Amino acid sequence: MSVFRIPAIIAALVLVPAALVYLAAGYESPRNLVALMAGVAAFSLMAFNLLLAARLPGAEAMLGGLDQVYRLHKWSGIAILFLVLVHTQVRFVQLEGLVPPGSLAETAVELAEPAFMLLVALLVLSAVKRVPFTRAELPWMWWRVTHWLIIPIFLVLGFHQMFVKAPFDSMSAIRLWLNLAALLGTGAIIWIIVAPWLRKRSYEIVGVTRLEGATELRARPLRRPIGARAGQFAFLSAAQAGLREPHPFTVSHLSDSGEIGFAIQPAGDFTRRLRDTLAPGDRLRLEGGYGRFDFRRGGQYQIWLAGGIGITPFLAMAEAYAKDPGTRQVVLVHAVRHAGLAINADRLQDIAAAHPGFHWQLHDSAAQGRLDAGKLAEYARFPLRDAELWYCGPKGLRKALQTAWRAQGDGPRRVHYEEFEFR
Ligand SMILES: Cc1cc2nc3c(=O)[nH]c(=O)nc-3n(C[C@H](O)[C@H](O)[C@H](O)COP(=O)(O)OP(=O)(O)OC[C@H]3O[C@@H](n4cnc5c(N)ncnc54)[C@H](O)[C@@H]3O)c2cc1C
Repeated sequence: MSVFRIPAIIAALVLVPAALVYLAAGYESPRNLVALMAGVAAFSLMAFNLLLAARLPGAEAMLGGLDQVYRLHKWSGIAILFLVLVHTQVRFVQLEGLVPPGSLAETAVELAEPAFMLLVALLVLSAVKRVPFTRAELPWMWWRVTHWLIIPIFLVLGFHQMFVKAPFDSMSAIRLWLNLAALLGTGAIIWIIVAPWLRKRSYEIVGVTRLEGATELRARPLRRPIGARAGQFAFLSAAQAGLREPHPFTVSHLSDSGEIGFAIQPAGDFTRRLRDTLAPGDRLRLEGGYGRFDFRRGGQYQIWLAGGIGITPFLAMAEAYAKDPGTRQVVLVHAVRHAGLAINADRLQDIAAAHPGFHWQLHDSAAQGRLDAGKLAEYARFPLRDAELWYCGPKGLRKALQTAWRAQGDGPRRVHYEEFEFR
């Protein structure tokens, strides 16, 4: 997604309702107008954010991938925080004393005050990833809880906007806009709750391999498989305690019979528990596939660069390439901290041996030093400027390479990458 698209979408969702407020109540004092505009824009963005969180079919294609959907969701959340602060601090002056006691309008005001305070606290918590001035991350579970709590707050604010005394009538465009936002937001909430049950597919584990840097899972569908392609990811969960919260993992293997594979680095509670407890015969629940990391959209010369566990999409992509190589030239470089962390080296070597257009290169940083732009250019069998780079790995490596290419002016034609993080 272009860098301007996120600010442009957010600006549109602020400016359109603000203009509608002006059309309906332009005679109000500037203070009241600002308070009203900030309130309706915040509510509109909340409804929009719920739609983004619902992962509606088509949203990914429109915005260029689920990671982009989440980026937009995050920046829209930050805009909501700012707008809510404006709405609550620049108070709507006419309200004082004009709300009849015991009326729905009074309840709407009373309910909204704590809801706004809680919303600000939740938005701050969900926007902050690390404890300030430390390297400690706020637990993922907190982030999840903050997000679930926003649902009842949206419903309370929907009630607030519907019954609070506002200077526009029931047939004005801004009232219709707000009702539409309430309707879409509520529909998205229902979809968020119901959809996982409709989308989830049951699998049985047929293999668990504990490698040094990853746990490899193989599973077969019990009924219908998920509709995943090479390069996509799925949300995985299991019935065992500690494994019920779905986590995203990229598909590393797909067979024609529907068998699926994942390679999962033991990074925290979920991924370690999965390594310790899952065994053949256990059930998995999968939801997906998501993502638009699809090399078939790319050109003739491709460099696939994986850092550590970022090899996972390329394992499935290499399999897909082997089935239909066409005339594409691919160089897959896997940078690992030490050679013991290579995953499925034999499989990749076999594909390279059978397909002259596919090359595989392991870069062992312990023995060869850090991978840099010069080394990558040596591995590539064609000029980098003619190639597209497909990248999955730590952000730091990608940024270092891009900085070097900018300085030298000899980078690849295009860089596609997948973030292993949503927060
Ligand atoms: C699109 C995508 C594809 C991924 N593919 C792979 C893969 O193929 N192999 C692999 O090893 N890892 C992959 N990851 C990373 C993997 O999802 C996390 O390492 C894992 O969820 C960590 O969970 P944990 O509880 O063990 O660790 P924790 O220490 O609890 O979490 C570490 C970090 O993982 C993220 N995370 C935790 N829980 C979730 C969740 N429920 N949903 C989303 N993110 C979460 C958060 O950023 C958190 O800070 C992928 C991530 C994404 C977003």
